[in-house]
Parts: sequence; C-alpha cells; structure tokens
Amino acid sequence: MLPIEAPRRLFDTLLAAYGPRHWWPARTVPEMMIGALLVQNTAWTGAERAVRRLEEAGLLNAWARLRATPDETLGELIRPAGFFRVKTGRLRAFADFMATFGDDHARLFGLPTGALRLSLLAVHGVGKETADAILCYAAQRPVFVVDAYTRRICHRLGWCAEKAGYDELQTLIASRLPAEAALLGEMHALLVEHAKRHCRARPVCAGCPVGFCPLRH
Ligand code: SF4
Repeated sequence: MLPIEAPRRLFDTLLAAYGPRHWWPARTVPEMMIGALLVQNTAWTGAERAVRRLEEAGLLNAWARLRATPDETLGELIRPAGFFRVKTGRLRAFADFMATFGDDHARLFGLPTGALRLSLLAVHGVGKETADAILCYAAQRPVFVVDAYTRRICHRLGWCAEKAGYDELQTLIASRLPAEAALLGEMHALLVEHAKRHCRARPVCAGCPVGFCPLRH
C-alpha cells in the first residue's frame, strides 16, 4: 500500500529540482484545447508548430472560422503535428462540439466536473488524457492527468504494476494529494519534465533528484 505522503514527497522533490513548469503553454482556452488535441501521439514541438500555423491563419480562437475551413487546408496547416488527417477530423469534431455551446467555453465550463468530463469524452478523438488535460488546465478543475510518463515513473518507484490502468493511476496520485487544480496540474507537468530529463525509456539515474527511488544506484 502506497503511503499517503509518498506523492507529496515526490511533488516537493521534483518542484525543488525543476521549478514550476508554468503549464499549460497556451495564452487562451481555445489554444489550450486545440493544443491538447494536437499533441496526441506526438511531441509537443510538432503540436506547437501546428498551433502557431493555425494562429497565423486566424483559426486559433475562432471556432466558426475553423468549421468553415476545408479539410485539405486544415490538414495542411496542422501537418507538423503528425497524423494530420486523423487530427483534422478530431479538430473538426471538437469545433462542432463547441458549436453546441455557442462557441463559448464559459458555457461549456458551466457544467459540473463529472458531466463536463463525460461530455468531453463523448467527442470523437477525445480520450481520458485529453479530457482530463482540458479539465485541469483550461477549466481549472482538480483533476490529475495520467500519461505514459506517469505510469513509467510510478512503476519504477514501485508504486504500481507496469501496465497499471489510467483510472488506477489517477486515483493512486490524486487521492493522496490536495484536490487543487494548480497542484495537480503542476504534478503532471513535473512528471513530464522528470521523464524527459532523467526517467527516460533508458533511465539516466546519475544525478536524478529522486533519492528515494528503489532503482537508484
Ligand atoms: S533513480 Fe532512475 S529510475 Fe528512479 S526515478 Fe530516477 S531516473 Fe527514474
């Protein structure tokens, strides 16, 4: 059984090592939501380039204009994010979803957290990770985002099985941390940073700040 204080200890350790990550890297709510859709299965650098191209085309904070843009144009703009045909369909589905809320994210975010999550999950191409990222970073709800990095780090710390499921990991961390959007969002961002700097696919344990990791040599 994971001690109640373990995730907080990891949070404090990573925060001291890397500092606040200032996530999500977006200036507006629509930009955040589009970034969350485009970053699926790709590195952030590619998604960011696609976001900037949408911005230059005047489509970043303009759901109606995005809906009116042909697939070919949209696909070309978001090509740097990879899987551009699939992501064009997902972007269009999300823009259609926003239309049902009058393109007003404040109206969408008027839903209680559970209903909001279910609504997001019902959109084509929105899985748990994307829905929870939108909940945490755009709607400021106390929701912890799980990804492959979370699983890798938690497994290496001996906190879960190698193939632990999304819901299990979310509960494991969120139930042991304060229910605060800012803190849970920072925790996710810090885990991503840690997975990139030290806890890579082939871990770079030398100099790793997590002194209590059982795998540390
Ligand atoms: S000691 Fe190695 S395996 Fe453990 S958290 Fe650090 S990088 Fe990952």
